[in-house]
Amino acid sequence: MKIIKNLISIDKTEKYLIRTNWGDYIESAYIIVPYLRPQYVFCISTQVGCRVGCKFCASGSSGFVRNLKFDEMLSEVELLYSLIHSKNSFRVAFMGVGEPFHNYLNLVKTIKILSGSFSNVCKRISLSSIGIPRLITKFGEDTLDLPGINLQISINFCTDEKRRYYMPGTCKYSLIKTIEACQKYILITKKRIYFTYLLFDGINDSFHDAQNLAKILNILDNNYILKVSIYNPISQSNDLSPASVHKALWFKELLEKFGINVEIFQSMGKDISGGCGQMRVYHEISKISFK
Ligand code: SF4
Repeated sequence: MKIIKNLISIDKTEKYLIRTNWGDYIESAYIIVPYLRPQYVFCISTQVGCRVGCKFCASGSSGFVRNLKFDEMLSEVELLYSLIHSKNSFRVAFMGVGEPFHNYLNLVKTIKILSGSFSNVCKRISLSSIGIPRLITKFGEDTLDLPGINLQISINFCTDEKRRYYMPGTCKYSLIKTIEACQKYILITKKRIYFTYLLFDGINDSFHDAQNLAKILNILDNNYILKVSIYNPISQSNDLSPASVHKALWFKELLEKFGINVEIFQSMGKDISGGCGQMRVYHEISKISFK
């Protein structure tokens, strides 16, 4: 694997465009979160491209090429570790390019190795998925004996209709089946589950959206946290724009009134195309040869 390009954000996030040994391109990044221990979060890609096709994501617009092998994901981790200034421990987040559950076997193998031979430095592992019901419960069973694993489901829209439009790869899975699988995951693992909700101006930030979201999540009895953040726009054309900070705070208050455990999160690396896949897409668009 070879670094082709890197970008550094004012918030110290560093993002890398990497050429794999097969000649295709992936992105990896590390984020420094001052209030976390450990502070370094390695954001790892699981696929070259992505089949889900989310309209708000650069990877979604550029199609799917292939799954990464487990040793390629480990190479991403090793590469990032070689780049950080303090050789302390880190967290791994499978939140780069790709839908981790679409590469399930390689994902679980990577997690098992990170939790084994890398456990002296890799202290927590999170993954973010659109939430494939069958694999949510299987993931709970397959990682039951591993400490420090967090599962995060990108919910983003509270009706199947809107979710399927903006996240076409969710077509086969209804929200209710996904939430029921999350209920089983909580029962199996005795762990809390996380949901993410990106706020788009005028699309999913109304009173009605908050009410529907509360109806869906309230069946989980407080065993979850909803992480709301404002959409970080991509420059590939789409009709989406970020909700205002004022709207985000109003939406959070409303959700709290409906009994939802909600936190607002700030997107990192906004100034360096922080959304997943943006660097890879720009590289392909620019058709620059780095050979
Ligand atoms: S947001 Fe995630 S699941 Fe959706 S297209 Fe991008 S990489 Fe795939």
